Amino acid sequence: MSIRLDNISKTFGKFQALSPMSLNIDEGEMIGLLGPSGSGKTTLLRIIAGLEGADSGNIKFGERDVTNIHVRDRHVGFVFQNYALFRHMTVADNVAFGLEVMDSKHRPDKAEIQRRVRHLLEMVQLEHLANRFPAQLSGGQKQRIALARALATKPDVLLLDEPFGALDAKVRKELRRWLRGLHDELGFTSVFVTHDQEEALELSDRVVVMSNGRIEQVDEPAALYAQPNSRFVFDFLGNVN
Ligand code: ADP
Repeated sequence: MSIRLDNISKTFGKFQALSPMSLNIDEGEMIGLLGPSGSGKTTLLRIIAGLEGADSGNIKFGERDVTNIHVRDRHVGFVFQNYALFRHMTVADNVAFGLEVMDSKHRPDKAEIQRRVRHLLEMVQLEHLANRFPAQLSGGQKQRIALARALATKPDVLLLDEPFGALDAKVRKELRRWLRGLHDELGFTSVFVTHDQEEALELSDRVVVMSNGRIEQVDEPAALYAQPNSRFVFDFLGNVN
């Protein structure tokens, strides 16, 4: 699903968190929102999700204007930094959750839900943990479950907010490769927030560089690498964190 942001802006009180901005994301693209803390990345992601309303502008998913459409009806999947798994539910029940809460018109029957959960757990290679509880998993395993859960309803758009921020460097690298693999296999459109330039450059089809509520630059990783004097790569990003 392509995403078209047209003239989106957001203030919190008097504070302009996002200056009017426009951005087109192609179907199947993986976009990294990169920038220092406070630059507006999460606000933009939440507006795309429908978790936050914009003050101005329009959002389209494909041909559909979703500007005033509730998050529930935007058909997006989410992954958060802190996994946000349900502690009292098994891994399998966590993955099934999004399917179980669908309205009766769209909800698959029990057998189909079970089949889909099994398939998702196979995809993230954690079938053997289906009956465990989140507290029994490592951080990397939890995030793979969170991804399986987000993908269960076959969302058109997958949104990730600092998905690997809580993980150590080795696991982070593994999960990056693995997320990119899933993305390429399943073909969903995806936007993720990061302040890690290596992550942005490695995972993204295009990187959106943000600063002070503005889009500073939008480019492919190769183009960003090829600009050693870019304000972005060495100067600006030197100050990230
Ligand atoms: P980033 O994700 O790049 O760290 P955010 O989008 O979270 O940036 O925040 C951008 C700015 O907007 C920050 O200065 C933050 O304090 C402010 N902000 C975000 N959400 C709210 C809110 N709900 N109320 C007030 N200010 C907010």
